[in-house]
Formats: sequence, structure tokens, C-alpha cells
Amino acid sequence: MSEKQLIVTIDGPAGVGKSTVSRELARRLGFTYLDTGAMYRAVAYACQNAGVNPADEDAVAALIHDLIIELQPPTSADGDVRVFLNGKEISNFIRTQEMGMLASRISGLPVVRDKLTDLQQQMGRKGKIVAEGRDTGTVVFPQAAWKFYLDARPEERARRRAEQLRDRGEVADETEIRAQIIKRDQDDRQRTIAPLKAAADAIIIDSTNGTADDVTRLMIAHIKQNSFQPV
Ligand code: C5P
Repeated sequence: MSEKQLIVTIDGPAGVGKSTVSRELARRLGFTYLDTGAMYRAVAYACQNAGVNPADEDAVAALIHDLIIELQPPTSADGDVRVFLNGKEISNFIRTQEMGMLASRISGLPVVRDKLTDLQQQMGRKGKIVAEGRDTGTVVFPQAAWKFYLDARPEERARRRAEQLRDRGEVADETEIRAQIIKRDQDDRQRTIAPLKAAADAIIIDSTNGTADDVTRLMIAHIKQNSFQPV
């Protein structure tokens, strides 16, 4: 059997609570939290900012060639990963519904996936990572020791996402959010490269009726039971 990496992967559809659970799990394990979705959002932001058509792969390729994307840990226990594009912080601009949809559009382009997958693998080289996204268990870190796939009903995911946006002082239309996440999931599942799906060796958790804390505790129990070295 090939060697396992000291990495936890958490994949799943939009608004399922991956960020909350990943951040908390990373904190409890003393691992680094790697938000791969934030990187796709950063590329989406760069395209929008430069007026690049997301369907024009050559233009996107030219744009991302020299892009420097950096992540820094959240500043508070319930904060998001901080994202920097060419040295400028863009954290406050990328976590909108609009940027999620645009990120999904550019995430189907091979040139984008190659660049970001490579970057994520570099970040994970030393291990001790909790990575969340759509393909972290299948493509980015196939050798991760612990893989989870989080799911929940679309209605509940839309409710949570709307609540999150309202907490940030934004206006949120739950019906529209539900339609957007269903469309985004469908596109993410159907794309040819690195589609959203559970790795064959992932533990599938449905969080529709559970809290983030319930899910985190379940994951910790699984990690401790299936530990190849103390964590
Ligand atoms: O997780 P988040 O909502 O921030 O992701 C935004 C979009 O980025 C997703 O809908 C998906 O299209 C893309 N993504 C991806 N692969 C990842 C993480 C995110 O394709 N590993």
C-alpha cells in the first residue's frame, strides 16, 4: 500500500458547512486549514477585475500565468481564510454568491485546475492539513489518510447560506440562493475534469439534521479510531 499523508480532506456541495467544520477540525487537530474554494474564487475575482471573459480559455490562461495567490490563516476562531492576490488582500470581495457562480464557471478550465491543484499540492507537501473543496480527496490529495464527503439537502444548505450572508449584513433571497446552489452543484458534478464526487474511500456524512459541532466530533472520532500515527 502506498504511503498515507497526514491530511484530512472534506469535499461536498455548496453551502453544506465545509468551511465551519474544516476550520474547527483544523483548530482541534492543530493542522492548517486549506480552503481550496477560496483559490477558485480568487481566480474568478481576477477575471472579473481584468474584464476577462471566463469562457475564453486563452485569455484566462494569459491572466493566471503570473497571478500570485496566497492564503493566510483566519484572524479569529470563526473567521475565513484570508486571501491575497498579487499581494493585495481580496478576502472581503470573494465570498459572494456571484463570485461563487463565477468560480464555478472558471473551475472547469484545465488551465485553472492545473495551476491551482499544483499550488494546493505544494501547500500540502508537509502534511498536517485539513483541505476542503470539491476534489481534494479524489484528485488533489488521493493519499490523504482521512477523507470525508459532507452532504445535506439543498433546502437546508440554502437556509444556512442565507443565514451566513445575513450575518454579514448582506441581503439574502433564500429561493434564489437555492436555485443558484443547485445549478452550481450540477455544473460542478458534471464537468469533465475533477468533478464534485465522493472519493471511493471517503466517509459520507449527511449533516441535514446535525450541527457543525456534531459533524466535527464524528470526524474526530473517526480520525482517532483510524489513526496511523498519534494526532
Ligand atoms: O467552496 P466554494 O463555494 O468556495 O467554491 C467555489 C467554487 O469553486 C465551487 O462551486 C467549484 O466550482 C470550485 N471549486 C472547485 N474545486 C475545489 C474547490 C472549489 O472546482 N477544490
